[in-house]
Amino acid sequence: MVARQAGIGIFGGTFDPIHYGHLRAAEEFGETLGLSEVRLIPTGAPPHRGGPVASPAHRLAMAQLAVEGNPRLKVDDREIRRDTLCYTIDTLHELRAELGETPLAWLIGADSFYRLSSWRRWRELFDLAMLAVACRPGFDLDAWRDHADPELLAEVLPRIQPLTIPATVERGTIALLPTTPLALSATAIRQRLADHRSARYLAPAAVLDYAERHLLYRP
Ligand code: ATP
Repeated sequence: MVARQAGIGIFGGTFDPIHYGHLRAAEEFGETLGLSEVRLIPTGAPPHRGGPVASPAHRLAMAQLAVEGNPRLKVDDREIRRDTLCYTIDTLHELRAELGETPLAWLIGADSFYRLSSWRRWRELFDLAMLAVACRPGFDLDAWRDHADPELLAEVLPRIQPLTIPATVERGTIALLPTTPLALSATAIRQRLADHRSARYLAPAAVLDYAERHLLYRP
């Protein structure tokens, strides 16, 4: 058991719908870094992709159902409440202002990490938080290095720190988290539900029941 420090973790995503890949990564992030709280932040209008399929209110409701009973995982609805385009940098500035000097760690999956240099004011992110990268099947760091954006590589490689247990949450550093690889995606779940195939055990039952009750991913 890893001792907890007062650090706060955040994990943003479309969560359309939230699934066990997200939840397991968030859980291991909280445990490995000894965070007192991990906030899942469903995005309102994500700048990086086509619009989500389910409405912000439905994605928020599913995230809330998913964390029920887990005292460390919370849902933060700030991006859903915003009616303008959501950039992570704005959310991080807002959180930093609220939390003062509390250590802040920001979790992203490997696929998002590889695209980091396309994010708005991405270098500024390192002034505000530590970055933790969850492994995701199909995204291999060594293979990525060979064809990654050189500007991104130059910025991130020197920041990668070996993970210590207990870990130190220090802004500007990057930790590669050895999370349990789960080859799950929201796209595959939406596709299954649209095809009337089973999505059971890919996401919490309460999430799938909600999606079905509201016919969220039916054609
Ligand atoms: P979609 O299939 O709709 O693109 P997704 O399953 O990739 O969705 P997102 O909500 O887009 O989920 O992802 C939110 C964050 O969770 C991203 O940082 C992404 O890299 C990470 N993530 C998603 N699925 C996994 C997984 N199976 N393991 C680890 N990280 C994941």
